[in-house]
Amino acid sequence: MPSDSAVRIVWIYPDLLSTYGDQGNLLVLEQRAARRGIPFESIRVRSADPVPETGDIYLIGGGEDRPQILAAERLRKDGGLHRALARGAAMLAVCAGYQIMGSTFGGEEGQPVQGLGLLDISSGRGSVRGVGELVAEVDSALNLPTLTGFENHMGVTRLGPGVKPLAKVVTGVGNGDGFEGCHAGHVVGTYLHGPALARNPALADLLLRWAVGSELAPLDDSRYEALRQERLTAVASR
Ligand code: GLN
Repeated sequence: MPSDSAVRIVWIYPDLLSTYGDQGNLLVLEQRAARRGIPFESIRVRSADPVPETGDIYLIGGGEDRPQILAAERLRKDGGLHRALARGAAMLAVCAGYQIMGSTFGGEEGQPVQGLGLLDISSGRGSVRGVGELVAEVDSALNLPTLTGFENHMGVTRLGPGVKPLAKVVTGVGNGDGFEGCHAGHVVGTYLHGPALARNPALADLLLRWAVGSELAPLDDSRYEALRQERLTAVASR
C-alpha cells in the first residue's frame, strides 16, 4: 500500500471519457512520479462509483457527446470532485472533460447542457469541427514551453473573468477565440489530446509540483523534446 504521503491521482470515468488515449495522461504522471521516487497511488473511478474527495490530482478526458452528458449528470450528483477542488486539489480536464467543468456546454444537437460550474467558462457547439494539430504559446504566468497536441471537437468555449486563457493559439482552433484552454488556481482545462501530458511533459510536472508542493528533480526529456520540435517544425512548414 502507498504511504499517506503518496500522491493520489484520480482518473475520472475511464468508462465514459477516454476516447482519445486519455489514459496516457495518467501513465505519464505515474511514470514521472516513479522516475523521481515520488510515491503515488492511482485510482480509476468508473461512472457507477463515487469520486473520492481526497485525491491530489484529478484527470478527466475527452469523449463523445452522449457519454459527456452522462458524465456531467453523474459528477453533478456525486459532488466529490466539487469537494476535492474546494480543498485545492489539482486537475487536468481535457476537451469533453474541459467543457463539462463550465456552467453549460453544447449537447449532441447543440442544446445547452448544465455543467459542473467548477470553471468560469461556458461552451456551445460551433459550426465547424476543430480537428488537427494544435500549437499554442502558454500564459507566461505558468512558465511552460509551447504546447503541442491534437484537437478534435465541435465545441466553442467562452472564458469568464474567473479564469485565464491557458495559451494563445499559434495553429489550430482551441477555444475558438484565438486562445486555447484555461487555468484557474490549480485547475487546467485544455482541448489538447495527444495525450496532452505525453506531448507536454512540463504540463505533467506542473500538476505534480502543485500536488507535491515543492520543486521536482529534473528528468532527461530529450525524447519528448525531439517529438515536440518535430511537431513544431511540421506545423511551421505547412
Ligand atoms: N463532444 C465534444 C465536442 O465535440 C468533446 C469532444 C472531445 O472530447 N474530443 O466538442
